[in-house]
Amino acid sequence: MLDTASPWTPLSPTSRRVALEVLLHGPLARTELARRLDLSTPSLTRITKPLLDTGVLHEVREVHVQGGGRPLQPLDVDADLQQFVGIKLTGSRAYGVLTNLRADVLATSAQEITTQDPASVVDALAALVSDLTVGHAPAAVGVGLGGSVRDFTLVQRAPFLHWHDVDLGLLLAERTGHPTVIANDLDALMEAEHWFGDGRDVHSFAALTIGAGVGGGLVIHDRLVTGPDSGIGLLGHFPLDPLGPSCPEGHRGCADAMLSTEAIHTQAAMVLGHAVTYDEVLDLAAAGNPLADQIIGRSAHAFGTLIAAVANIAQPERILLTGEGIRLARVGEQRLRAGIDQARQPEASPLDLRILDDDPTLWGRGAAAVAIQRTVLSDLPRH
Ligand SMILES: [Zn+2]
Repeated sequence: MLDTASPWTPLSPTSRRVALEVLLHGPLARTELARRLDLSTPSLTRITKPLLDTGVLHEVREVHVQGGGRPLQPLDVDADLQQFVGIKLTGSRAYGVLTNLRADVLATSAQEITTQDPASVVDALAALVSDLTVGHAPAAVGVGLGGSVRDFTLVQRAPFLHWHDVDLGLLLAERTGHPTVIANDLDALMEAEHWFGDGRDVHSFAALTIGAGVGGGLVIHDRLVTGPDSGIGLLGHFPLDPLGPSCPEGHRGCADAMLSTEAIHTQAAMVLGHAVTYDEVLDLAAAGNPLADQIIGRSAHAFGTLIAAVANIAQPERILLTGEGIRLARVGEQRLRAGIDQARQPEASPLDLRILDDDPTLWGRGAAAVAIQRTVLSDLPRH
């Protein structure tokens, strides 16, 4: 469907650039905005007029300049202009968030996924959307999932759902009547960090996630790097420790075998002689249990090796570490840093490393960010 009511649809390319600059970096004074976009102040005034008239932009409180000059009235986007739904879909659960135009989370909700056939999953997603929006139509709905997605609608492959070639975007859009965008969950997380999070002030960054698997994403020159194998988890089998345990594919010490939550608690159970959860292994290591400490230390060191490899090859300005298993980077931080140092050129610049603690809204917010991007770029899938 074409969302003709969207205030973003009629914008000229220049107006859109202005609105996006303010959305991503606002509030901005007019002089600063003109400088950033290389526009003259009269041109900027002419371009912002219709954006102010339609409510996309507004003037924020007066800021008085010292020395009694004219008061500055910085421009900002009205973040409450539209609302978006973002959903992280796994094989067992759909976790949803309602956000404003800047991907700030306003509400959360979840639905269990009991059967994985597309019709039942669409039922659960539609219930989640209506639960989050309570009759107030969102501008768009975004869904992120582990797997390969084409054209923001077609799920080509989603191993956790056992799906091949399911047009989830079309099914959900028909069901809810809302514009719908589907994306790989890690790509969605990258876009959220790039526009609204810890990647918004740099032109290149990488993110590494650990949890059920190991994921990696890269933004270079302000663009997300994608390829034909995006979404299949290429980084998961990156070799890290020739003496480490094997993954199901038979790789010794690959990233999945060294860093996935399951690999770590399975190893710990063998060494400790009883079943333990991932968090219990971390608790034991933090409390000084030598067996748990050895497993966590070795994994943290391997994580450092992986971080250094990404830094050495791609040279991003910043590296973000996150995911459900990221507490490993806190508990084993010293050995993670030792792993990095061991694999870096001694003269290399120190890494700008940020650990983003696990947050249940992280992935849903990513899916919302993709819905926001497609909406403000007026490039939603036509269903
Ligand atoms: Zn492997």
